[in-house]
Formats: sequence, C-alpha cells, structure tokens
Amino acid sequence: MQIIFKRKSKDPVKLSEKRAVVLYSEEEKLHSPNREWNFGRTMPYPENEERGQTIINTIKKHDYGSLLHQTRQFDDSYIKAVHDNDMVQHIKSCMDLDEGQAVYPHVFPYHQFSRRGDVNLRAAGYFCFDVGTQIQKHTYRAAKAAADIALDGALCIREKRNNIVFGLCRPPGHHADYNAYGGYCYFNNAAIAANVLAGDMRTAILDLDFHHGNGTQGLFYENPHILYVSIHGDPRVTYPYFSGFADESGSRLGRGYNINIPLTGHVDDKVYRNHLKDALKKIKAYGTEILIVSIGFDTYYADPLGDFDLSSGFYHEMGYRIQQNFPCTLALLEGGYDIEDLGLNAVNFLKGLLG
Ligand SMILES: [Zn+2]
Repeated sequence: MQIIFKRKSKDPVKLSEKRAVVLYSEEEKLHSPNREWNFGRTMPYPENEERGQTIINTIKKHDYGSLLHQTRQFDDSYIKAVHDNDMVQHIKSCMDLDEGQAVYPHVFPYHQFSRRGDVNLRAAGYFCFDVGTQIQKHTYRAAKAAADIALDGALCIREKRNNIVFGLCRPPGHHADYNAYGGYCYFNNAAIAANVLAGDMRTAILDLDFHHGNGTQGLFYENPHILYVSIHGDPRVTYPYFSGFADESGSRLGRGYNINIPLTGHVDDKVYRNHLKDALKKIKAYGTEILIVSIGFDTYYADPLGDFDLSSGFYHEMGYRIQQNFPCTLALLEGGYDIEDLGLNAVNFLKGLLG
C-alpha cells in the first residue's frame, strides 16, 4: 500500500510542484551572423548561437537538465496576428538567399515619402529601423522557432500544465514592432505570447533588458489589456534612442498602461532593486494574473552592450522576487552578451524563479 504524506504548509515547495519548464529549440543555431554595422564600422555580431548554447550547457551542468524541453511547433498565424503580414513574408522570402548571403537595409523611407512598393530585398529598409540587424537564409526559421517557444510557454501556462516557464528565445524579440524589425529582433516573442494570454488572464509584461523594448511598447501602446513596464538605460544615450522616455505612458484607451523607467548614472544592485520593487508593486496593482518577463542579461556589469552594474547573484534575487509576487511567470530571453557569465546569470535567474 502506498502511503501519502500530506505536506505541511511550512515545508519548502519542491521543484516538481512548481511545474517549471525551460523551453528551447535546436533551430536557433541556424541564425548566427558574423558581423554587424555599428556606427560606420563593422564589429562581431554579438547575438549569435553561442548565447543559447552556453545557457543550455550551464543549465545541464547545474543539474537542471531535466527541465529542458524542445518546443512544439505552430503555424505562423500567431505571428501574423501581431505583425504585418508583408514583413513576415519579407523575412520568409529570404529563405531563397544563398548560404552566407545577408540582407542589409540600405535605404530607409522618411516621414513625408514612405510609399510601400513590392516586397523585395532592395526595399528591406521599409521593414527595418537599423543597419545592424541582418537577415540570412535561415533567419526566418530561427525567428519562427523563438516565437514558437513563447507561444508554447504561453499555452503551457494557459492550460495550467506549468506555472513557471523560461523560454530560451533566440533571436530575441522586444525591439520588433508591428512592421519593423531591428535590434537583432524579428518577431516580438513576448507580444506573441501576450496576445494569446490576454483574452483569458490579466496580462502584464515586465521588460528587464538593458535596452528599451520599443517594439513591445509600440504594439500595445493603445491597449489597456496588456500592461507594459520597462526598466532600461536612458534612451538619450542608449539604443534604441527614439523611445523609452518616462513621459511615454500610452495613448487613447492605453493611456496609463505603459510605464517607462529609464535609468542613468551608476545603476548597481541596490539602485536597481528599488526600481524593481516599485515596478512589481505597480504590476501587482494592475491585478496581474500572468507576468511575462522580457529578461535581458545585458544589465550585467561585464556586458559589452549595457552600462548597468548588476552582479550575477542579483539575477537570483530578481527571479525570486518575481515568482514571490507572480506564481504564474513566463520569462523569455532577450539580450545578454557576456558569453563568459551569460549561462551562470541565466541559471541564477532560473533558480530564483524556482524559489
Ligand atoms: Zn538589450
């Protein structure tokens, strides 16, 4: 006879009871450009396959390998529900490129004259807002897989199979707007997840990447059903430069549902903690039932693209504070480019989420 002991309320919750899962896709390796344009110079492309691989390897090394699951695949209607179909088609059409060939936008439409012509590679500037983000032959497959991870995670939570999901999305998504890709992002993974969750659960997005998520803000700027809160580097000196200011608070019905917290000066664990606590309080006041976290590790002190000074241990606290306030959390990977410690930072965050 099997004896079942009732768990006393003071006992720590076991990992299995958290019903946590880490989703990934082998397809991410397909997208790994070599170099990018950066203010007139070329430099190594930091958003490469090493990022995903080092996180997966470190998760296994720390004995969380059993949480790793390859994502399910979905059709692209969920992506097209959030993005302009012509942009999706443009990225997809690049599957016809030769191996190693890359599409860079060269001419951008400006405000007075911005007529849309046929979708072709010379008109790439219509759908892109920077020159640093290139499309290669397999970019569509990788970006689609990243969106699948976000969607899979959203459905796992909506169907109550899991309450903590960490999606290792690569390429990231929070810079991708309705009809514009950029900032290494093609499809907005967090927005695609939010779009399927918001009908059933009160949904908020907390963006903790070093850079402002201009795409996510743009997609939901008039939408009161998805609260967007972002803590990021001051856009006066930091990418994406044209959005992320404190007075951008949403418009029309969405007024008050967009909260930007741009930070300048020396931002260490202590400074960041205060803003994080404040952000979590606001998200709680919204009545949030499911929190989507755009988690970027480019807030790490050694990150080559970010200027904040967070320690590796702080990501544990970050995850812990989040799960204490929001038992249903879907965390989706955005940036983080210090390859040496990226895996450890992600594992610390995961451990925090697991309590
Ligand atoms: Zn970033």
